[in-house]
Amino acid sequence: MTAPIDLRSDTVTRPTDAMRAAMAAAPVGDDQYGEDPSTNRLQARVAELLGQEAALWLPSGTMSNQVALLVLTRRGDEVIASRESHAGWHEVGGAAANAGVQIVEIGRGGIFSVEELDAAIKPAGLPVFPSTTLMEIENTHNRAGGVVVPQPLVQQLCAAAKARGLHRFLDGARLWNAHVASGVPLHEMAAPFDLVSVAFSKGLGAPGGSVLAGPKALIAAADRHRRRLGGAMRQNGIFAAAALHGLDHHLARLVDDHAHARGLAERLVAAAPVQLDLATVQTNIVVFHLPAGLPDAPTVVARAREQGVLVNAFGPRTVRAVTHLDVSAAQCERAAAVLVQVLGG
Ligand SMILES: *Cc1c(COP(=O)(O)O)cnc(C)c1O
Repeated sequence: MTAPIDLRSDTVTRPTDAMRAAMAAAPVGDDQYGEDPSTNRLQARVAELLGQEAALWLPSGTMSNQVALLVLTRRGDEVIASRESHAGWHEVGGAAANAGVQIVEIGRGGIFSVEELDAAIKPAGLPVFPSTTLMEIENTHNRAGGVVVPQPLVQQLCAAAKARGLHRFLDGARLWNAHVASGVPLHEMAAPFDLVSVAFSKGLGAPGGSVLAGPKALIAAADRHRRRLGGAMRQNGIFAAAALHGLDHHLARLVDDHAHARGLAERLVAAAPVQLDLATVQTNIVVFHLPAGLPDAPTVVARAREQGVLVNAFGPRTVRAVTHLDVSAAQCERAAAVLVQVLGG
């Protein structure tokens, strides 16, 4: 049997031969002494790409998000985020367990309005309310189907948050996809935030790692929290080299992943009675819903698997498929045909 077509996530990519060669050749040192040249190069490069003063390597996007909360909030604070945010759904309650904050989710489809932000900010001065001190934006938004948060909205929201005394954090695990899909320069997308997190383990195809970028003083604070959480590494250059290779060779090609996702979504909509708004398919993620009459998500996932296509159940009647470096246009067409058949189309 041939290997399955794995659309569960863009994290399933394996380092290419060229990426492995770059990792093997990477100059390394002890990063806790600031002496890993490859990590230093990556941090400088990402800081420059994002137009930020400084940047810090973290072993995962989840830890990067946790560290950002620890830097920008105090225990008991409240954080405003989009509905079904990674911070609220995919980090094992880390916001509460590590930073001691609660997350309030607002809006829909990965975005929210200034009016919704205003309504969610607890007024200061009343002793019973928590302090709302941070607004977090996820771009692209995973559970909303990889939508790009429009830059004019990002600017409005960040200006409003700032005017109301809130810090701003960008969970940009897939900011590369947002950048490639929208054409907005990375430094422009990062500019209105205090801290920005980006990941290398998704579309860029590296085996792991994220970088948190921002002003020097905040990154110095982030460094202390990283150590405290046990995320400071030693000869990390092997990972950093993979990330640098991803930036050099796998950034521009994200347009292919986006085209593949679009093709998959269009085939599904044309041939199967799924609920899928094509307007949400802006990058490499296809999230669709199964109305009554169709099998539920675990059944669809199991039947697709029998035919060599792997997708994820994102809810009882919600399925996610993600395109990436390790799946070709032909494999995405094949996956669409299998899904259509499984869905009775
Ligand atoms: C994947 C992801 C993360 C976390 O990254 P890991 O490296 O898997 O911990 C954070 N935010 C978003 C939006 C993600 O999709």
